[in-house]
Amino acid sequence: MTNGVIGDLLRHRTRLSPDLEAVVTPTRRLTYREYNEIVNRLAHFLLQNNVQKGDRVAILSKNLHPFPVIYLAAAKIGAVTVPINWRQKTDEIKYILENCTPKVLFYDGDFKQVTPLLGSLPFIQQEIRIANGEDTTGFEHLIQGYPADEPEADVEENDPALIIYTSGTTGRPKGVVCTHANLDSGANSIVRTLDLRYRDRFLFVTPLFHISGMVFIITALARGITLVLNTQFHPVQIWNLIESEKITGMFSVPSMLNYMYEMVKTQDIMAPTLRMIICGGSRVPEHLISGMHEWGFHVIQVYGATEFTGAATFWMPEMGMKSCGSAGKPVFSTEMKIVDPVTGEALPPGEIGEVVCRGPLTFAGYWNNPEATEEVIRNGWYHTRDVGYMDDDGFLYVVDRLRDMIITSGEKVFPAQVESVIEQLEEVAEVAVVGVKHPVWGELARAYVVLKEGARITEEEVLTHARKHMADHYLHEVEFVKELPKNSMGKVMKHVLRQHANRQGA
Ligand code: ATP
Repeated sequence: MTNGVIGDLLRHRTRLSPDLEAVVTPTRRLTYREYNEIVNRLAHFLLQNNVQKGDRVAILSKNLHPFPVIYLAAAKIGAVTVPINWRQKTDEIKYILENCTPKVLFYDGDFKQVTPLLGSLPFIQQEIRIANGEDTTGFEHLIQGYPADEPEADVEENDPALIIYTSGTTGRPKGVVCTHANLDSGANSIVRTLDLRYRDRFLFVTPLFHISGMVFIITALARGITLVLNTQFHPVQIWNLIESEKITGMFSVPSMLNYMYEMVKTQDIMAPTLRMIICGGSRVPEHLISGMHEWGFHVIQVYGATEFTGAATFWMPEMGMKSCGSAGKPVFSTEMKIVDPVTGEALPPGEIGEVVCRGPLTFAGYWNNPEATEEVIRNGWYHTRDVGYMDDDGFLYVVDRLRDMIITSGEKVFPAQVESVIEQLEEVAEVAVVGVKHPVWGELARAYVVLKEGARITEEEVLTHARKHMADHYLHEVEFVKELPKNSMGKVMKHVLRQHANRQGA
């Protein structure tokens, strides 16, 4: 095998640390030796079932051990894993499967939306149920008789290893193809940038099917880390798990961190081993990071994208609390600049433009979609479609997504800036600002606000607070709602709010 091939990382890690715990789930604990053996057995199973280099293998699974096992077994024989977001509906899953035509579908019986598809897609040669609830004995039986030695395969670092579909909020979902080299570089840049240690124990409650999970499975191999997988997030159970499993680091999204912070403020939380909580996927409110910091918790903000194989920048408290709220600095081997979205010219510090980045983490392209690939990779630079600026010290500040920018009577309004002003109000739990079409002004800015339990504040008070801090055109309307529509990563689905707002009219 070649350097930079991810299946080989597991072989090397097993040689170095066979007895180290590799994967822990509520029902299973595997050392690296056992992990590698199961991966090899499944790789032989796939080979004997005619899965060849380049074939796709789809997974629809909770955070249970078959998930990383399938991913690494496919990688060892050069097959390409397609992890599917299980929050999607039957039609969305069908679209993805028809687009990438996998030979094998591994699915979890709990996800009933897949049932109508079973037996109906001619390109799928095997449909394998891997779990019932958290019971995975069926999966274990499947691979039992297969050899545990390394499979023979000719895998190169530029072969595709992974296809993750975008959520399709702007058109049909696109398959983001990452190669072995992308994933190896993604893992390397994390290892070099963060203070990760051999024997660290990382908790994953966020879904593994997201790029953060897929890259961290590889990072764990590179550094010798134990992955502790959990199938759901509950704030009380999470703190108990952190204590009982001696967790040293975890991934989170802002809504999850918010629940954890509420508990930290009101209860005596014991988490002496926890050295870092990585948080990202969308902007992490500054007060959450600084608030957790005051209680002694080290929150690291990550900014990244699937098309950039995960993390593009990290902010960590040791960079100084003065820059808290920034997305931090680029990871190792990544170049980043801010350009004018129209001319493509590089902009000086302080000026807002499109964030573009370059390096070995740039994805290989969208699956069977060269036109869409050319739109975002230009002259080797990945165009994130995020707007932001860099300060004089090289810290990146992500202002918003280009597509969420509001233009009201010719003035640009970035919703994220308005949101951070409204978030300053003690009564506000969450807020999302979107543009509503208006016949005269083009668009008006409307805030959807969720209040904390029992809190009271009027629309007028929110508007008055906003106008104290920003020009009047930054916010026109406020609507209180019980909750915000979110996707599986806890990201607010602004297109749903925009549709709602535009149906009502401004
Ligand atoms: P899709 O492309 O599927 O519609 P998506 O854009 O959310 O969804 P991802 O690759 O999951 O796709 O997320 C990348 C985007 O998430 C970034 O381009 C950025 O807009 C946002 N993002 C991620 N982390 C941060 C962060 N720390 N601060 C601000 N925005 C972030």
